[in-house]
Amino acid sequence: MNERRDAFYAERDRRTRQCGGQDTNLERPVRIVVGDDAATTRAGQVAALALINMVARVHRRVALYAPAAPLRARSLVAADDLQDAIRATALAINPFLEIQADGALPPDAAVSIGIGHHVPADLDFTLTWQGGRGELIIGALDGAEPVGEGLLGAAAASVLGASALFRAVHDQPVNASTLNPLARSSGRNTDPTGLAGPLDVGHVQVIGAGAVASALVYWAREVGVIGHWDIVDGDATELHNTNRCLSMTAADAGWPDGITRLKATVLAPMIGATPHEAWYDQWDGIDVRPDLILLLANARGVRSLIAHRGEPLLVHATTSARWTAELHRHVPDRDDCPACRLPDDSAPVFDCSTGPAVPDLRDSPDAALPFLSAAAGLLLLAALLQIPDGGIASESVNHWQLDFAPAGVQLREYRHPPREGCTHQLDETVRSTVQRAAPRKWDQIPMRGA
Ligand SMILES: [Zn+2]
Repeated sequence: MNERRDAFYAERDRRTRQCGGQDTNLERPVRIVVGDDAATTRAGQVAALALINMVARVHRRVALYAPAAPLRARSLVAADDLQDAIRATALAINPFLEIQADGALPPDAAVSIGIGHHVPADLDFTLTWQGGRGELIIGALDGAEPVGEGLLGAAAASVLGASALFRAVHDQPVNASTLNPLARSSGRNTDPTGLAGPLDVGHVQVIGAGAVASALVYWAREVGVIGHWDIVDGDATELHNTNRCLSMTAADAGWPDGITRLKATVLAPMIGATPHEAWYDQWDGIDVRPDLILLLANARGVRSLIAHRGEPLLVHATTSARWTAELHRHVPDRDDCPACRLPDDSAPVFDCSTGPAVPDLRDSPDAALPFLSAAAGLLLLAALLQIPDGGIASESVNHWQLDFAPAGVQLREYRHPPREGCTHQLDETVRSTVQRAAPRKWDQIPMRGA
């Protein structure tokens, strides 16, 4: 058993180590308490299931307390109630996860977190939310009302919670944090603006089924998706992908039977999408113009290929090993193009904020931690929800960087003007011809806010 456990973590945690994860620290128990108030709301269940999802991808020992409430949120795996869903999700992601009985752990042996307001007062952290705003509180809330609804806020809170636990087991400082992915703001004064689904942006082609796509699909399934989606990726799931891909289980990566599934095939059923097991440049659907292309891959020149399509609006999200999750917009003539902003041949940067770079792992520019991918997917989901009202297309900035800094999560804004000499984008006349030949849903939307 121990040999197999060691073999699992040696392979599964390659990218986690690259981002500063230390094996001995990840063995420290993490205690998660789902409050009775949170357990009965859909938002509370979303927070609980997402938090355990992220925790099981990096941590190795947990104590779980959750009421056996009827399941109202979507579970990654089949389950009878919330308690069962939390446990089954954790074990599907990490079959070697040691789940301890809550009472067996001395309180000071673990880093602890509560979800909702009805949780013990001796916890290290508490998650709360309102509308689209999620919050990480140090300690507990005092005699508060039951936590309410707010699906995106609950999702944001779970991301903040997962990053706090990862920092805390590594003895790093954790500060109170707030995030609203819809308002694209962080900090104390973040407003609680929320938005319910479903997500309806027409025919979508998702290019790339890696960690950000995996998170987007995970969150999108919860808000509901209308319209036809294609998911295009020729890559197979590997065990070291499961450290950060919210929709993947160990079995998807062939543990233990060696039968791996292709990433597109894993993600597509989550939202009723059509999987395409192909690389974008070889895909036979490349000539079909959808309403929206989500550029969530980076290899094989895909950024310049997609920049060259003449689309009026591109949105996508990325993570970096510097503990950031980033949302990008590209509107021709107003913004730079995706290939100029993120050149394919850029050397991977491994100045992880928590540990030294690991020289023998320099081959993986996609290294990330689960909460980084989850945050990138959540920022992207929020942006997509707003597209029908102009939203991201009408903003004056075009790049949002969520930095999981020790001082507290911070969202920064950048504006990248069109790059002089860009050879990736079509000029205005050609773009209009392309768009008129096959008009699509959002062809006019960037102009609305220009
Ligand atoms: Zn360019």
